[in-house]
Amino acid sequence: MLESIDEGLWVADSGKPGASVCVSFGVHGNERPPIDAGLALVEAFETGALALRAGKLLLSHSNPRASAIDARWSEGGVDINRCFHADKLARDAVVYEEQRARDIFAALERVEAEVLVDFHCTVEPGERFLMQHPPVANEAHARVFSLLRARFLLADPNLNFGSVSLDEWMSTRGRVGICYETGWIQDPENTASAVLAEMKNVLRGTGLIDGDATIHSDKELLQLEHVVRCAGDGFVWTEGVGQNLQALPAGQVLGAYASGEEVVLDADSVLIFPKKKPELVELGKPLVYIAIARG
Ligand SMILES: [Zn+2]
Repeated sequence: MLESIDEGLWVADSGKPGASVCVSFGVHGNERPPIDAGLALVEAFETGALALRAGKLLLSHSNPRASAIDARWSEGGVDINRCFHADKLARDAVVYEEQRARDIFAALERVEAEVLVDFHCTVEPGERFLMQHPPVANEAHARVFSLLRARFLLADPNLNFGSVSLDEWMSTRGRVGICYETGWIQDPENTASAVLAEMKNVLRGTGLIDGDATIHSDKELLQLEHVVRCAGDGFVWTEGVGQNLQALPAGQVLGAYASGEEVVLDADSVLIFPKKKPELVELGKPLVYIAIARG
């Protein structure tokens, strides 16, 4: 039923009409709960505990070499989630991740994937959330994100994140591509079995396996508006400011440079990926992404 087509890539084809869905995990090799969940899903199809009733399925353990050493990327490698871009395809693959991205593209084409959910978890504390490139109102994406538990959906229609990730590879081609951050890696509730239950819910909701899907309709919709780039030396965050998904009012001082110049919000905003660690703050690089609530 489940065919291994390459290292860490498996395909199941029911032979019946239906959706073609890819579940990806381990794009970052140290994000254990989604990896263990994904491997348990592989095992469930291999043993026959689960079977496809319709459509096609691709399971992608996306960076198995990184997982083998429990690191974000492989030795001497790069972040594979910056490799899913046509510019990378246009030149020769130099490191493992560049070749691996091609292998994953080939597998996506083989099954003509229409829906992809890429499962991650975060190393900083914070709630689970979803990301997609199309605007918050995109219907095809909304159907899939209602199958996932996260309360927050962050859309990035202007491609502030650079159109280099696996989900963006799908969504910039008119297909559904969602990145799902299942929460903090150390959250005791963010277990492999909890993530596995969410993967199965996606397969139920897209009609691939039997059973009724649970629909999670209450979402807070956020749209990424712009990036605040570091414009000086010695930036220090205001005390209590700088958590991911933190909502703050217009006029809030985010922090100040050594010169005394302050960074102030000009609208009610939600902070995305604030760089709290001083070693991550670099001149000209993002200090924080700014999102606006859209309902
Ligand atoms: Zn990740």
